[in-house]
Amino acid sequence: MSEHTDHPSLVRMAWNLTKAFAKALVHYKRTGEIAVDREEYVDRLRVCEDCPEGYFYVDKTKQLRCGHEDCGCYLEIKAGGAAEMCPIFAWLGDIEKYQEMNDG
Ligand code: SF4
Repeated sequence: MSEHTDHPSLVRMAWNLTKAFAKALVHYKRTGEIAVDREEYVDRLRVCEDCPEGYFYVDKTKQLRCGHEDCGCYLEIKAGGAAEMCPIFAWLGDIEKYQEMNDG
């Protein structure tokens, strides 16, 4: 059972979403990628369902969610984005992607 069964405030989620759009634009300009392939998508959701820090939960409308303060996302959408990263870097390749995005 998840330890974190709540999401960030709406203001915080709006800010997180704004950052995600900006990140997606930069990533698309750099790589031409918008979405990950099916295999990576499924792998990401598997990691979330066994979240190492217990942020995964299913909300009242049966949506898969991340309760991390820097996320709050609907995971079935987030997991498909090529620019997306897990806030605790649990997805495969997250650390390398973070380093690439912050190398200028
Ligand atoms: S995105 Fe990361 S922190 Fe959030 S539920 Fe998935 S594995 Fe956990």
